[in-house]
Amino acid sequence: MPELPEVEVVRRGLVSWVRGRTIESVDVLDPRSIRRHALGTEDFIGNLEGATVADVVRRGKFLWLPLLDASAGPAAGGAPANGRPAIALMAHLGMSGQLLVQDGAVPDEKHLKVRIRLSPGDGLPGQLRFVDQRIFGGLFVTSLVPTDDGGPGGLAESPLPLIAEEAAHIARDPLDPAFSFDLFYRRLRKRKTGLKRALLDQGLVSGIGNIYADEALWRARLHFARPTDTLRRAEAERVLGSARDVMLDALAAGGTSFDSLYVNVNGASGYFDRSLNAYGREGQPCQRCAAAGIHSVMRRDQFMNRSSHTCPVCQPRPRNGRW
Ligand SMILES: [Zn+2]
Repeated sequence: MPELPEVEVVRRGLVSWVRGRTIESVDVLDPRSIRRHALGTEDFIGNLEGATVADVVRRGKFLWLPLLDASAGPAAGGAPANGRPAIALMAHLGMSGQLLVQDGAVPDEKHLKVRIRLSPGDGLPGQLRFVDQRIFGGLFVTSLVPTDDGGPGGLAESPLPLIAEEAAHIARDPLDPAFSFDLFYRRLRKRKTGLKRALLDQGLVSGIGNIYADEALWRARLHFARPTDTLRRAEAERVLGSARDVMLDALAAGGTSFDSLYVNVNGASGYFDRSLNAYGREGQPCQRCAAAGIHSVMRRDQFMNRSSHTCPVCQPRPRNGRW
């Protein structure tokens, strides 16, 4: 499953290669990949053809391309008079979805599902391809709605106070410049839950999955079962800052992909060479404790049908913990 940094790499790649270009034609090679578009293939294609990709926006792991209609303007039916986008192409990467920017001469990938031909750009490849081996991902067209706080919809090049309808229910992610720590902390304190459960709650903060939750908690030296209503402001700042830092580190490590010709997320092979301190390290020494000359072995606990990785020494289990 791609995590937030991988999706951000895709966003940045699409900004370079696709933003500002017009969609000339669309081939849906497998209708299963647009099954979330309730009105069917013809409607999907009709919405895309002739539209211009105005931007590439991400909130949490949600990614969408706001589209400007070819006829956008005061007279266009449905389009706002100020020429703002009213719809967006939503990309759901699922487990194995990839967005590739390819030259038309490149043979079709084995699992090519949707081909989007783009207007010619300065030596840019002519096609945006959605490739998906396991068909958990997909593309669909959705409405853009006003954000409830009037801020930008997410991380974007030209931020607008609009958000894809499907993403409107999720909170801002730690990399969002409009993220409000005060709001997060107020909501966190009201939740009678454990800290990791809160970090995974997309309504509180979005984009933190199981891996980055474990890494952020390890960096912040906090246990996953820490009751949120006992969390001090400085501790909440520490864990949130840690989540942001691990994601930025991952982005820095994955940075080379910005130069490649295609935009790619491959959850199966692990696009990033993640350097992890907690996740998946059960049975191995805690790196921080080892550096301090203390012998401590990372442990793994069952948690919400998954697992949590902690150091029993530097992330001691709280009394009255909430799992
Ligand atoms: Zn430790």
